[in-house]
Amino acid sequence: MKTENLPKNHPRYRSLLERHRLEEGVRKGLTSLQGLLAHGRGEAFDYLFGERTRSWARKAERAAAAELLLARHPVLSVNGNTAALCPLEMIALARALGCRLEVNLFYGPAGRRKKIAAHFKELGEELLGAKPDAVLKGLKSNRARVDRRGIFKADVVLVPLEDGDRTEALRKAGKKVIAIDLNPLSRTARKADLTVVDHVARAVPAITREVKRFKLTPTAKLRKIALAFDNRAGLRQAIGFLSPKTKGGGKA
Ligand code: ATP
Repeated sequence: MKTENLPKNHPRYRSLLERHRLEEGVRKGLTSLQGLLAHGRGEAFDYLFGERTRSWARKAERAAAAELLLARHPVLSVNGNTAALCPLEMIALARALGCRLEVNLFYGPAGRRKKIAAHFKELGEELLGAKPDAVLKGLKSNRARVDRRGIFKADVVLVPLEDGDRTEALRKAGKKVIAIDLNPLSRTARKADLTVVDHVARAVPAITREVKRFKLTPTAKLRKIALAFDNRAGLRQAIGFLSPKTKGGGKA
């Protein structure tokens, strides 16, 4: 079915549209089949969270905007799912920050990086990472291959839909990691410096809005916002929301 044929009044229109975008992403060679499975896991959490941005995520998005504005050299990482789901939103955030986007993939041949870069080029944005020229220590997967001008020298990296190993390797390399991950229990969520437990398609525009709102905010105030953010408390809140104890459920 074509995107324009999806019934707009369908109660699960958003979800259908996203699945459709990912399916197209696979067809165009941007998204991996494993990416579909990862999305399924994300969707399940989003369903449980009521498919909306919760209070813990709003706080994290605000703190993420402050951290990105405070960064000397922030970089936004792009994978096959974000390329299919929200490329324009990623571009808008990069432009609001005046920073670069870099493609970085776990699965797939080198050609997939190039296809993603070509997809962004059609949308008017030059991506880094299509021809990686540096290696991030501590990683064995494709993820280790980065761009010297991008992730390699970044001090803050935004990583939507990540795997825990890379989050750890980025942190070991001295970078601050901001993750977007709907699973508050994932290794990424627990290992990142700042975790936004929200859907990437909602989180990225929300961070962009905060970045724009903060444009004239003094650095000292941004530091205060970033410092005041408690990542563990945010994760606890998200996990508590799912917990039968706090939701009044019983034993399974
Ligand atoms: P980890 O190594 O961190 O434990 P994992 O192996 O569980 O990660 P992956 O298979 O790499 O995870 O999947 C990526 C993560 O992205 C999952 O935790 C999933 O919940 C999350 N995710 C999937 N789709 C979205 C989305 N649209 N928005 C935000 N997060 C998502």
